[in-house]
Amino acid sequence: MSKKSAPKKTSATKTPAKKTATQKTTVKKGTAAAGIKKSKLSTPNPPYFYFGGGKADGHAGMKDVLGGKGAGLAEMSKVGVPVPPGFTITTEVCTLFYENGMKIPDDIDNELSKAMGHIEKITGKKFGDPANPLLVSVRSGAKFSMPGMMDTVLNLGLNKETLEGFAKLSGDERFACDSYRRFVQMFGNVVLGIDKETFEEVIEAKKQARKIKHDSSLQVEDLNDIIKKYKHIIKKKTGEDFPDDPYQQLRMSRDAVFRSWNNPRAISYRKLNNIPGNLGTAVNVQAMVFGNMGNNSGTGVGFTRNPATGEKEFYGEYLLNAQGEDVVAGIRTPQPIKDLKNDMPVVFDQLRKITSQLEKHYRDVQDFEFTVENGKLYMLQTRTGKRTVQAALKIAVDMVKEKLITKEEALMRIEPSALDQLLHPRLDPAAKYEVIAKGLPASPGAASGVVYFTSEEAVEAATAGKGKKVILVRQETNPDDIEGMHASVGILTSRGGMTSHAAVVARGMGKCCVAGCEAARVRVDKKQLQIGKLIIKEGEVITLNGSTGEVIIGDVATIEPELSGEFAALMEWADEIRHLRVRTNADTPHDAIQARKYGAEGIGLCRTEHMFFSEERLPIVQEMILADSPEERMNALDKLLPFQKEDFKGIFEAMDGLPVTIRTLDPPLHEFLPEKGEIEKRIKELDKADEEYDEKLNRLKKTLLRIEELKEVNPMLGHRGCRLGVVYPEITEMQARAIIEAACEVNKAGKKAIPEIMIPLVGHVNELRNQREVVERIVNETKAKYNARKLTYSIGTMIEIPRAALTANEIATEAEFFSFGTNDLTQMSMGFSRDDAGKFLRYYVDKGILPKDPFISLDQEGVGQLVQMGTDRGRATKPDLKVGICGEHGGDPDSIAFCHKVGLNYVSCSPFRVPIARLAAAQATIMEKQKTSERDK
Ligand code: PEP
Ligand code: MG
Repeated sequence: MSKKSAPKKTSATKTPAKKTATQKTTVKKGTAAAGIKKSKLSTPNPPYFYFGGGKADGHAGMKDVLGGKGAGLAEMSKVGVPVPPGFTITTEVCTLFYENGMKIPDDIDNELSKAMGHIEKITGKKFGDPANPLLVSVRSGAKFSMPGMMDTVLNLGLNKETLEGFAKLSGDERFACDSYRRFVQMFGNVVLGIDKETFEEVIEAKKQARKIKHDSSLQVEDLNDIIKKYKHIIKKKTGEDFPDDPYQQLRMSRDAVFRSWNNPRAISYRKLNNIPGNLGTAVNVQAMVFGNMGNNSGTGVGFTRNPATGEKEFYGEYLLNAQGEDVVAGIRTPQPIKDLKNDMPVVFDQLRKITSQLEKHYRDVQDFEFTVENGKLYMLQTRTGKRTVQAALKIAVDMVKEKLITKEEALMRIEPSALDQLLHPRLDPAAKYEVIAKGLPASPGAASGVVYFTSEEAVEAATAGKGKKVILVRQETNPDDIEGMHASVGILTSRGGMTSHAAVVARGMGKCCVAGCEAARVRVDKKQLQIGKLIIKEGEVITLNGSTGEVIIGDVATIEPELSGEFAALMEWADEIRHLRVRTNADTPHDAIQARKYGAEGIGLCRTEHMFFSEERLPIVQEMILADSPEERMNALDKLLPFQKEDFKGIFEAMDGLPVTIRTLDPPLHEFLPEKGEIEKRIKELDKADEEYDEKLNRLKKTLLRIEELKEVNPMLGHRGCRLGVVYPEITEMQARAIIEAACEVNKAGKKAIPEIMIPLVGHVNELRNQREVVERIVNETKAKYNARKLTYSIGTMIEIPRAALTANEIATEAEFFSFGTNDLTQMSMGFSRDDAGKFLRYYVDKGILPKDPFISLDQEGVGQLVQMGTDRGRATKPDLKVGICGEHGGDPDSIAFCHKVGLNYVSCSPFRVPIARLAAAQATIMEKQKTSERDK
C-alpha cells in the first residue's frame, strides 16, 4: 500500500487582530474605522512598562504582554544587572494597532512623551535636546524569540541640531555623523520600506570615488554627502522629507515595528516554528549605548554554556569599537570572548559574574548581548539560549547533577521530536574523502547533497518531484533564506561566526552547517563555488561535516550515531516517570533489534505483508493469488509458511520476553500483482520460438484476467483486512500456524515468545468471531503438535473502522486486546483518502481549515473521540482489556499526550521514534501531574 500523507505544515499566518485569552480587549466591531479613543487593556493603561535604574514594572513571567526581550530586560533590571533604561509597549497594543486600522489608539499615543520622560530622568539626557540629546533604539520583541525576523531602528532622535550636540558629547564628529548615517539608512529601509541595496549603492559609489575599501575610512564630509544623498532618495521615493522631529521618528518607527510582525519572513518563521500568528509583538524603546565609541568600547554576544555541545564553558564573540549589528552581520570576523579578558579585564570579570548570576537566576543557559560604552558594561538582552539537541541533553542532565533543576524539569526541557537529530548519521570514519576547505563547525551532523546557491533554487530542487538532497551554499544567510535552509540537508556559508544567522538557525533546525568558510568564494551570478582552483558548479555534490567544519568534495558514506551517556540518563528518567508503554512497529528481525536498542518494550504492529515482497517470495504469493482452487492455494501457502516462520522466529528471538503483535494479511491482493500494462508488455515480448511459449502466454493471460477481477474502484474500502481471511481462511490458517510454530520453536530453544495475533479492519464483531475461530483451531492443533500447552498467546483486533469503535463493547467480547489503527481510522472518519489527501491537505493546513495534517497528528476532537469511545466501551465489557495505538500517530508527541490522557496502555511507532515516544510519554505524565497539583492549589 502506498500510504503517503502530506508534509507537515502548520498554520501561523493569522493577523494579531484575533484575540487570545491573554489579550482580552473590549474593542467593539466597527471601531477600527472610527479609531479607538479609550483602550481597555488587561494590564495597566497606559501600557508602558518601565525598566532601568535597578527597578522595573514588569518581570520575567510577563512574556505574554512584554515579549521575551521586554520581560528579560525587566527581570535583569530588577535583579540589579545594568541595562540601558527604557520601556516596553505591550503586545496588547500590537493587537489594538491592527484592530485600529494600523494606528495606535490616541489615548495610548498621547502618553508617549511621558514614557520618554522616564528614560530622560535616568539618563539625564533629553529627547530632541540639541545640547544634550537622548538617542534611543526601537526594537521588536515577541513572546517567542524570532531572531532577526522583525525590525529594529537604532540611533533614533538624531537630526541636524541634535547631531551637533551628540558630536560634542561623544567628542567624535566622525562617529556622530556615521551614527546619523546609519540611522537614516535604517529608518529609510525599515520604516519607509526602501531597499537596503539602494543605500548600499550610495556607499559603494562613494568608496569607489574615494578609492577606499572600508566604511570606516569614510570621513565626515563623505558621510555628510552620503546622508544628503540618502535624504534625496527618501524624498524621491516617498514624496516626503526625512522627518526631523524626534517624536515623529519615534512614532513612525514604533508603528513600523508593529507592522513587521506580519512581514513575510516573520510569517514564514512562525509557520516553521509553530508560533501562533495572533500573539503580536511588543516594542522596546531603550536608551542607546554605543559600542563604537573607540577601543574602550565594544559589543558582543554569548552563551553561558556552549550551545553546540552543551559543554560548561563561557562561549561567545565580540568586537571592539563596533555596533551590535557588526557582530551578527558577519562582515567583520569577531574575536572569541575569552580574548576580552586581555582587552578589558575588569569588564570581562563583571560580564562573567553577571552572566553566571543570570544563569542561576533563570536556571537555564542564557544567550546574552552586551555593549561596553567607554569602559561601562551594559547588558542589552538575556534570553534562554537556543541550542542543539546534543547540547540541550547535556545541559539538562548536567543541571540536574548541579542541582539547578529537577529530573522532571530536565525531561520537560527537551523537545521530543528534536531527539530525532541525535539519531542522525555521521560520516563513516572508515570512509576516505578529500577535505577541500574548513569553516566553523556551526551545527553538528553530516550530510551530502547537490549544491544550490539561492533559496528559491534549493526549494525547487528539494521539492516538486525532484526530491534532491540539497546543500545550500551562500555568502551568508539572512532571514529571507529560511525556506531554503529548511528545504536543504546542510548549509555552507563563506562568512559569519558561530552566532551568525546561518549558525543559529541551522542549529535550531537540527541541520548540519559549516559557517564562515573563508576559503569558499561563492558566486551566485555564475552559480558556482570556488575553493582554490577547484570550481564546483550548481548540481554537483559536496559533503559537509558540521561537527568539524570540514567541506568535502563528493558523496561520503555515513553511519548511525552512538547515543551518549546523557541520552541514556534522560531516557532512564523518562522510563521511571511514564505510564504509557512504548512498543515499535517492526516487520523484520533487523528492525526489531534496532527498536529494542532504542528501548522498545515490545512490537505493537508487525505488518506481515511486508514479508511478501522479496524476490523469492513474491512469485509464491502470486501463485497463491492465481490459484483456481483452495487446494492450489494451500499448495502455495505451504511454500510461504517456512519463510513466514523464519521471520517470526527472528522477531521473537530479538524480542525475547516481550510481547509481539503480529497482524494477519491486510492489503488488497492486487497490490501483489504487477500493473496491467506490464503484463501486456511481457505478452508482446514473448518469443514464439520459445518452447514454453504457450505455457507462459497462458499464465500471463491468467494474470491479466485476475488483475481485472481484483480491480476495485475503491480498494481501501474493498476486499482487504479480515475480509481476505473470511473469504480465504487458508491464508489466516497459514499465518497463524507460522506464528505459533515459530513461538513454540523459540520457546523450546530457551527464549520466550509472547505472540499476540491481531485481526485487521474489523467493523463487526462477527468478523472477529469468524477469524478467531480459525486462529484458535490452528493454535490448538499446533500447541498439540509441539506439546506446548503452556504457550501464552492472545488474540485481538485493530480498531480502525469507525463502526468498530462505536461497537467496541461487542467487539471486546472476542478480543483480548485492541490496537487503534489511526491511519485507517482517520481516513474513514474524516473521509480523506490517505493515498490522495496530500494533494489538498497542505492547502487545508495553510489556510487554517485544519490546524495540522490529521495523518501526522491525531485529530483529537474528531477521531480522538472514537479512540476515547472505543477504549471506554471496550473496557466496559472487559476492564483489563489491553489497548494500544499503532497508527503513525503513535510516534507523534501531541498524539502520545492524548493517548496518555485517554488511558491507553501503550503506543507503537517506528524504531527511530521510540526514544521520542518514551520522552513524550514521560512529559505527558509530568504535565498531568502539574495540572493536578495546580487544580489542588
Ligand atoms: C492503521 O491503519 O493505522 C495501521 C496501523 O495499519 P496500516 O497503516 O497498515 O493500514
Ligand atoms: Mg490499517
